[in-house]
Amino acid sequence: MHEWALAESVVLAAVEAAQKEKLKTITQITVQIGELQQIEKEIFLFALQELAKFQKPPIKNNAFLLKTEKSSLSCKTCGKSWKYSDMKKKFNETESESIHFIPEVVFVHARCPYCGSPDFEINKGRGVVLSSIKGVR
Ligand code: ZN
Repeated sequence: MHEWALAESVVLAAVEAAQKEKLKTITQITVQIGELQQIEKEIFLFALQELAKFQKPPIKNNAFLLKTEKSSLSCKTCGKSWKYSDMKKKFNETESESIHFIPEVVFVHARCPYCGSPDFEINKGRGVVLSSIKGVR
């Protein structure tokens, strides 16, 4: 269900920005989704399109453009940073499957690929962000 809540906040933010810019129609809404964000993209897109229907200013059909934001992780021990997609190659198939569905599991299995430390943080790649809107004045 959280896809609907996320979609609602994206649509509301887009509508608010469009009103500020005095747009008559919103033609494109670009949304960045972190690759570690746990989300069903089909449900999310469906929710966006449903919520877009009765807005002011109106949102054009198929206005939504979903982009994946690459992750970035950094080690607190050695200070190096890397991408989740680099790290994924080190896991066996079962682990990478479970990580695909539950990104939090990344903390259980993951180690810094440089020094082996389990103490690292995610700098990028989580969350859903409204990155831009386009429209007609
Ligand atoms: Zn390290």
